[in-house]
Amino acid sequence: MEIADLVVIGAGLAGLTVARGAVEAGLSVQVLDKGRGIGGRLATRRAEGGLSFDHGAQYLRPRAPGFAALLEDLAGAGAAAPWDAADGAYVGVPGMSGLPKHLARDLDITTGRRAGGLIRSGDVWDVFDTEGRLALRGRRIVMAMPAPQVEMVLGPDHPDSRAIAEVAFAPCWALMAAFDGDARLPETHRDRAPDAVLSWIAHDGAKPGRDGGASYVAHASTAWTRAHLEQDADWVQARLLDALADIANGALPPLRHAAVHRWRFSTAVRPLGRDCVALEDDALFLCGDWCLGDRAEHAWASGQAVLKALDLVKNRQREIGG
Ligand SMILES: Cc1cc2nc3c(=O)[nH]c(=O)nc-3n(C[C@H](O)[C@H](O)[C@H](O)COP(=O)(O)OP(=O)(O)OC[C@H]3O[C@@H](n4cnc5c(N)ncnc54)[C@H](O)[C@@H]3O)c2cc1C
Repeated sequence: MEIADLVVIGAGLAGLTVARGAVEAGLSVQVLDKGRGIGGRLATRRAEGGLSFDHGAQYLRPRAPGFAALLEDLAGAGAAAPWDAADGAYVGVPGMSGLPKHLARDLDITTGRRAGGLIRSGDVWDVFDTEGRLALRGRRIVMAMPAPQVEMVLGPDHPDSRAIAEVAFAPCWALMAAFDGDARLPETHRDRAPDAVLSWIAHDGAKPGRDGGASYVAHASTAWTRAHLEQDADWVQARLLDALADIANGALPPLRHAAVHRWRFSTAVRPLGRDCVALEDDALFLCGDWCLGDRAEHAWASGQAVLKALDLVKNRQREIGG
């Protein structure tokens, strides 16, 4: 099996940031993701009848100039667009996953395979899947996934897992619902009250590049999700639809489609406070939003920090400068 310069485990925004930067700097890079598609929490779920829902991240609002420049580039390429409902924010086009898909173009990515363990022999790491089969080999590894999922690969007693044991994530139940007719719900709705069932609603069908239909995404609050994390999906769906009907003053039009998704690791409520983690003499890096905060921009910034630690940003500048 070919030995890559760099193996990236996790094709969310952080992993794709590292992978693209490393490829642009001339490294051979292979990416592995357990999902059916790529993008992680920058996700779009499709359903029958041409429906689609951004059930993870809702919008990306840039603060750092570098992230703003990336979103402008993505908008120029037709993979993102400004969303007026959230001031200064962008969404992926035609769905949120359009954004990571564009970043993933031309990269060597294996999907549908979950990393289950790593073994280092000399300068080479072997990455095994959860069936114990060799999946990829590389000289350096970047694990770009939520901290609790890093722990699942390395094992909770591994010394490298202890470096990130303090990081904590909130879960989130997400409702995706489409109606036949006007649902009379707001374009967006946020409720920070501690006893709120739903903390967020968005008229997904009205985002740029969508069909304009009555499709909505609603997120249960952290408190409600924690209290009902292990309930079955049908029960959760019924409760969240009731909560949506309350916000629509009691009545919703006939339901065309509904589904729920449980994000066990939705947003980091206790981030690490460092931009990335370098281990094993700079041969193993951990990165992701949870290093710095709870937003997509933090995932990008953490990926950038890995590129800097690997000296790849400088290399690129040297190349550009000739
Ligand atoms: C409900 C919800 C709402 C949000 N709203 C917003 C918002 O409005 N604005 C905002 O900026 N951010 C929001 N976020 C946060 C944003 O989505 C994240 O900050 C960002 O997408 C994290 O990117 P990442 O690359 O760090 O991690 P992820 O996107 O989680 O990527 C990690 C990847 O690793 C893969 N993986 C995990 N374990 C393994 C393994 N063992 N083997 C192989 N692959 C593995 C996963 O499949 C995944 O693709 C929201 C998130 C959620 C869930």
